[in-house]
Amino acid sequence: MKSSAQVVVIGGGVVGASVLYHLTELGWTDVVLVERKELTAGSTWHAAGGMHTLNGDPNVAKLQQYTVGLYREIEQRSGQNCGIHMNGGLTLAGDRERMDWLRMAQARGRYLGMDMEIISPAEAKAMFPLLEEQYFIGALFDAAEGHVDPTGVTRAYAGCARQAGAEIYQHTWVSDLRQRPDGTWDVITDAGEIHAEHIVNAGGLWAREVGRMIGLELPVLAMEHMYLITEDMAEVAEYNAATGHELPMGMDFDGELYIRQEGGGMLLGTYEQACVPWSPRETPWTFDQQLLAPDLDRIAPSLEIAFKHYPALASAGIKNVINGPFTFAPDGNPLVGPVPGVRNCWAACAVMAGLSQGGGVGLTLARWMVDGDPGEDIWAMDVARFGSWANLAYTNAKVRENYSRRFRITFPNEELPAGRPLHTTPVYDRLTAHNAVWGASFGLEHPLWFQRPGAEPREDVTFRRSNAFPVVAEECTMVRERVGLTECSNFAKYRVTGAGSAEWLQRLFTNRLPRVGRINLTAALDPDGHIVGEFSVARVGTDDFFLFGSQIAEAHHSRWFGGHLADGVRFDVLGLSLVGLSLAGPGARDVLQSVTDASLATEHYPFMTFRRIDVGMIPAYVGRMTYTGDLGYEIWVAPEYQRALFDLLWRAGQPSGIGLFGFRALMSLRMEKMFGTWAREYRPIYTPVQARMNRSLKLDHDFIGRAAVEAELARGPARTLGYFDITPDPAEPADVVGDEPIWHDGAVVGWVTSGAYAHYSRRSLAFGYVPSELAVPGAMFEVEIIGQRRPARLLPEPVLDPAGQRMRA
Ligand SMILES: Cc1cc2nc3c(=O)[nH]c(=O)nc-3n(C[C@H](O)[C@H](O)[C@H](O)COP(=O)(O)OP(=O)(O)OC[C@H]3O[C@@H](n4cnc5c(N)ncnc54)[C@H](O)[C@@H]3O)c2cc1C
Repeated sequence: MKSSAQVVVIGGGVVGASVLYHLTELGWTDVVLVERKELTAGSTWHAAGGMHTLNGDPNVAKLQQYTVGLYREIEQRSGQNCGIHMNGGLTLAGDRERMDWLRMAQARGRYLGMDMEIISPAEAKAMFPLLEEQYFIGALFDAAEGHVDPTGVTRAYAGCARQAGAEIYQHTWVSDLRQRPDGTWDVITDAGEIHAEHIVNAGGLWAREVGRMIGLELPVLAMEHMYLITEDMAEVAEYNAATGHELPMGMDFDGELYIRQEGGGMLLGTYEQACVPWSPRETPWTFDQQLLAPDLDRIAPSLEIAFKHYPALASAGIKNVINGPFTFAPDGNPLVGPVPGVRNCWAACAVMAGLSQGGGVGLTLARWMVDGDPGEDIWAMDVARFGSWANLAYTNAKVRENYSRRFRITFPNEELPAGRPLHTTPVYDRLTAHNAVWGASFGLEHPLWFQRPGAEPREDVTFRRSNAFPVVAEECTMVRERVGLTECSNFAKYRVTGAGSAEWLQRLFTNRLPRVGRINLTAALDPDGHIVGEFSVARVGTDDFFLFGSQIAEAHHSRWFGGHLADGVRFDVLGLSLVGLSLAGPGARDVLQSVTDASLATEHYPFMTFRRIDVGMIPAYVGRMTYTGDLGYEIWVAPEYQRALFDLLWRAGQPSGIGLFGFRALMSLRMEKMFGTWAREYRPIYTPVQARMNRSLKLDHDFIGRAAVEAELARGPARTLGYFDITPDPAEPADVVGDEPIWHDGAVVGWVTSGAYAHYSRRSLAFGYVPSELAVPGAMFEVEIIGQRRPARLLPEPVLDPAGQRMRA
């Protein structure tokens, strides 16, 4: 065994093997993989081997597409048979909502070049004669689906990696991990120690235990999962003889099951409602290529549906029942990337669909390690999307919810209940008393909208407009015509202090820093000029700043700032030690002025001022800006003051007709002001030039990524963020939710990033990226919304107050 290596990958399942392979592909060959038993000994060996490209998140779908496309190559190069069966797959819809979901998935796949076809039940029956047509209203056919041999795939990755110089040590258990002061690692195994620059946690079923070796509690939990294999069936043999090929795969949402041919019989797996976590606290190290006791009663409801939908199964004998554990993160997506706060430690775990996703996970992690950038948009998989609040109990609640909803639709306006409420601010009860409908993000409850008094605070889930629509319209009108109050604690808040802070931030930010007492907007870039973050920067002293950013990116951004920290600079995550309320609308100044001695007149407190003032008896930092684009203030206080602040503003606002508004109204208001948002318009795959962040980009100072920005400005961006006015279907209006394809001249040329109905302006609006040569004001496009291509006109400026007079008034 080597005593030192550049990388030690811990775990020889399909994911660890893929990471090892991809590292060697990118030229890192001093890499080793350590496996406690044999390759695949965790969850990989008993996987059903199914692979799909279809995924609700197009970026994840892209990585699945990459994975599925990789198998022939590694099979050929390694000489290891991967058992590839590209039979195609049918996703079957039993109701209108599911059909809508399929249409949206098909549309999202278009700009990834995924060629999927919507077919009728009769066509589905012709492809898969075992099904009973009457239970379905349509299906999506994807030719790029099939199944592989999980062991063959793992060995093929390993074989290719070995050819390139990687070494694999089986029957070697990593029992401890110790970091040296220089950030390198001593990997302690039962066969000796390896000194490594980097470690990768690909521990699969034991990823949590490997994390605990360095004091981490990774949000990952294993669930039991069952599939059964039937005896050979005459119907299958007939089909194979008649067509010369195997049956396609089937995904049946009503039965919460998947089905495919296995040998001469069928394999049927279920995601049962009565799901059971496995080893919820600690995974035993003694577990080795074992299975769990089957429990057919638990999956009986799915089997009943299966026997109705595929009657031939009812009379087929069961040859084998497999019950095995595999892992999930709270949202079902993998945990990939640099572990926040731990140098040279990488995660590649919680991969619940290793045969669909393993290749993409390996590729992006290897790029991240070698190039410093994953090279793809893997926001949905970033290990930093959870904070420390995602502990064992939270993970348990969320993973069980996620497992039982594996085949359920999560609507764009749906808020899932498990693990909530967790973080609440002091005004939570006040807002609940005002009939708030709550959502949660990054563990924190935030008000979405306020139901009318007496009505149930509940939103109907839908792809179209919900019962919130008319109420949110009233909230928008209130803000634009009177004054609205909302909570704005759901920002990430950071404080940067210490000698050299200004110099440090200036080097990170594309905008020049504001003067003391002012606030401005800025972006942070990577060296290639991609957007790493988007922040409001408030300066309260020469070397004293507050930064406000996207809350969901709090851990992600903290990791980035932490990785760039300069000596003498202190970077603090404020979390809920600073909470906020926001007043917006033409009456906002009168309301706030009535409770403070500080003059709020524009000549004393102009737009983009940020100062420490007293509001009543409450010490506050008050920024004159809001995301509504109206006259407004964000008022930041310590949590112990927030209730008093709420009561004070609420009372003071009564003469002005103050009311509450929530996040849905905010999203509507920001759309009509053409304000982009993090994770949608601004993501690490876009640049500030493409995103038209002109106001935040000043080339009068040096900053990370500046050379790339200048080069892009010189040659012109290949794509540009457009702002579209859409004409919805008058019969059944629906607005964009994000990721819809944008058509031009009969071809898909771009995609929507986000949008909303702008109630006050009465327009359905969207943002989306299109080729720059097409981004001409007035140009006509079409946006595909739930299977319909709706006209979309590219607008040159915000539909409301393009000169920005309201916020400066
Ligand atoms: C019944 C069932 C059916 C499934 N069907 C499918 C399917 O059809 N399609 C699909 O894509 N996925 C399927 N899966 C999921 C799939 O099995 C997983 O996504 C995949 O196996 C995850 O691989 P991994 O490498 O992350 O983890 P694992 O396979 O668990 O590998 C982790 C490895 O790390 C090793 N290890 C851990 N700690 C240490 C240590 N300290 N020292 C040394 N070695 C260590 C373990 O021994 C193990 O071999 C199924 C799972 C089950 C249970």
